Amino acid sequence: VSPDEFQEYARSIEAMYADLLPNRDGNVADYIPTLRDADPERFGIAICTADGQLFSIGDAEQGFSVQSTSKPFNYAMALSQLGPTEVHQWVGQEQSGGTFNDYRLSLGEGRRPHNPMINAGAMATLALVDHGKQTSDRFRTVRETWTAMMGRPPGFDQETYLAEKATGDGNRGLASLMKAADMLKAEPGEDGAARTADFYFQICSLEVDAQGLAAAGATLANGGVSPYSGEQVFSRETAGRVLSVMGHSGMYNDSGKFSDQVGLPAKSGVSGNVMMVVPSKRLAVVTFSPRLDAAGNSVRGVEVCKRFVNEFGLHPYRGL
Ligand code: GLU
Repeated sequence: VSPDEFQEYARSIEAMYADLLPNRDGNVADYIPTLRDADPERFGIAICTADGQLFSIGDAEQGFSVQSTSKPFNYAMALSQLGPTEVHQWVGQEQSGGTFNDYRLSLGEGRRPHNPMINAGAMATLALVDHGKQTSDRFRTVRETWTAMMGRPPGFDQETYLAEKATGDGNRGLASLMKAADMLKAEPGEDGAARTADFYFQICSLEVDAQGLAAAGATLANGGVSPYSGEQVFSRETAGRVLSVMGHSGMYNDSGKFSDQVGLPAKSGVSGNVMMVVPSKRLAVVTFSPRLDAAGNSVRGVEVCKRFVNEFGLHPYRGL
């Protein structure tokens, strides 16, 4: 992306921000206090290119828990450590058809969770990261991966973590059922499934902002190379696989609709973040705005994705 082209993107995002600021549609997530009490007016947008050009506007430096947007990176770390053959013994690659937190544990082909973007699959992949090491070492690996992508370390939202843990029966139940079905490389011991779920709650509670998350998205857009440190965080092949699953399952139960309207890989989290990757331009656009639509995606965030793609003709299957 040339500096001139980037200027155009920045100007467009500035206009979108002003235009969407009055949009108060949707509701904040209310299952835990930190999300229920989040300021619903917050709105930030950041765009980051593979070569580190960054533009942001609004609350782009406001911290939020990364939540489900950690899932693509858990999958990336598992792929990096073990390769696709081993990882896909534990998790599938298909759309689930169910909700992200489907507690009935519907398993797909080979009795694996359908994909790494639903909670069952996210716990299955996270369980593979540094499997066998102490949780503290494993947490450090994940934190260092985020630091390499963003050029600075993520924070940790302790309150969110405690609340996720307190309300986490569904996820603990999923982990137990998976372990019972021999489909989870859980931590050792009789409470291993619960501790695996606990590690997942910790990773969901990493605190990032739109600017940082845009750099993480740009790392995926850049074949796994961080735009700031130049470090090869993931292989090109791993980055591509992660984008594939984001492309079909990153936006909860609106993933198909999003694919129709936007056509690009994206992942959203319940705190109101959306991370969209534009592979053809090797950049990422991240929005933070807590009000969610019925599917759980940020209302303003989805709108930014649609407008950006339409304005610059970036939908890969439109206008062929
Ligand atoms: N911690 C949430 C859960 O596992 C993640 C929610 C989300 O962002 O989708 O239920």
